Amino acid sequence: MKRAIFPGSFDPITLGHVDIINRALPLFDEIIIAIGINADKKYMFTLEERVKFIEENYINEPKIKVETYTGLTIDVCTKLNVDFILRGLRNPADFEFEKAIAQTNRKMSTIETVFLLTSAETSYISSSIVRDILRNGGNVKGFVPESVTIN
Ligand code: ADP
Repeated sequence: MKRAIFPGSFDPITLGHVDIINRALPLFDEIIIAIGINADKKYMFTLEERVKFIEENYINEPKIKVETYTGLTIDVCTKLNVDFILRGLRNPADFEFEKAIAQTNRKMSTIETVFLLTSAETSYISSSIVRDILRNGGNVKGFVPESVTIN
């Protein structure tokens, strides 16, 4: 069974993430969306909210699972019996950052990182810009799936 983990903060999930996940679905039997918990990071949405936004969006997609984790991504891969890490590439900055992490993970394990290039329509979307819009009272329709709701 080909299983991939898609690790990230998903604070919140955006249509950029959704694009990568949907295009990766035919490549894998199962994709585990893994929300990393980093004690040093301040999040806008709680872990429960971030899980709910993703689960609701994929309620009719049995190949998608959602997990939360702390620690190294490769350790979670071992724990969940996953051979591939899925990541999206938006720009050269993403490439430089991801290259070092993927090569480090390869050195430390046999886990292969699979990159999908962002779609032209969603390449500019990021969770941090979505958070900025929200902080300033703007409307994020068109940037996030409908499951992302703001209290
Ligand atoms: P992280 O905190 O690990 O960067 P994110 O939730 O911001 O987590 O992103 C998770 C993954 O989704 C990363 O591989 C990132 O490059 C990818 N990603 C985010 N936004 C987009 C987008 N608009 N197009 C393609 N990939 C994206």
